[in-house]
Amino acid sequence: MSHDINSLTQDSIQLIDTHAHLADESLFPDLYDVLQRAAGVGVVQMVAVGTTLSNSRICLELAKRHPQLYASVGIHPNYCTAAGPTDWEQIVELSTLPRVVALGETGLDCYWQDVPLDLQRDYFERHLALSRVTGLPVIIHMRESGPQILQVLADAARIAPVKGVMHSFSGDRALADACLDLGLYISFSGMLTFKKSVGLREIAACIPDDRILIETDCPYLSPEPIRGKHPNEPARVRHTAQCLADARGVSVDTLAQITTSNARTLFQLKET
Ligand SMILES: [Zn+2]
Repeated sequence: MSHDINSLTQDSIQLIDTHAHLADESLFPDLYDVLQRAAGVGVVQMVAVGTTLSNSRICLELAKRHPQLYASVGIHPNYCTAAGPTDWEQIVELSTLPRVVALGETGLDCYWQDVPLDLQRDYFERHLALSRVTGLPVIIHMRESGPQILQVLADAARIAPVKGVMHSFSGDRALADACLDLGLYISFSGMLTFKKSVGLREIAACIPDDRILIETDCPYLSPEPIRGKHPNEPARVRHTAQCLADARGVSVDTLAQITTSNARTLFQLKET
């Protein structure tokens, strides 16, 4: 079947890229064109996801300037060591501002071993506590850290239900089930389209309709058939949408309706 992006522009489907690092230096200078290309293939809204305090501030500025953009503010697990002593207080302040729709990205990363896990866990728990206060969902990064993340989430769930999404999901079926049991959404990135991701597509086929999301995680993880072409950008979420629709045996229109509706529910986005 064709994954040519030009063949996907005929209809009027609406997609939401729920995870885009638009403040990244590989996308930011070209942002006008990036947003034009997204609009051209039906990507109607995007969540610009912060990784540090300064990066979160840029995401918020972008969201103020562009009606189709919203911001997530937080400190990425890989940047916890670099965070200044007052950075978290300022993230807390940002979290109350209009157009901030989520916290993160947060989570745990056991792949890169340069940030102590205890410090990552401390910041992850701060995001979860702030989520309980603000009602904003958390965007959770997981890399070779599934069991550790489940432990933190299970502890948090004893205090109150956890609201959020496992972004760019790459775990196994048991982990997906555990996340669903906790009430989380599961979001799939371009990784879903990779030829070797057979198991991931099988998992994606089984996620309930009301818990599934799509994203690019741009500038990373360009999907097939343009895998490896850097930077990735929101327009390319169309390829992941098509792949997910194929995996689930539904039309891309149906898949778009489901994932767009879910994104609007989780992040409380207005319809455009
Ligand atoms: Zn990310």
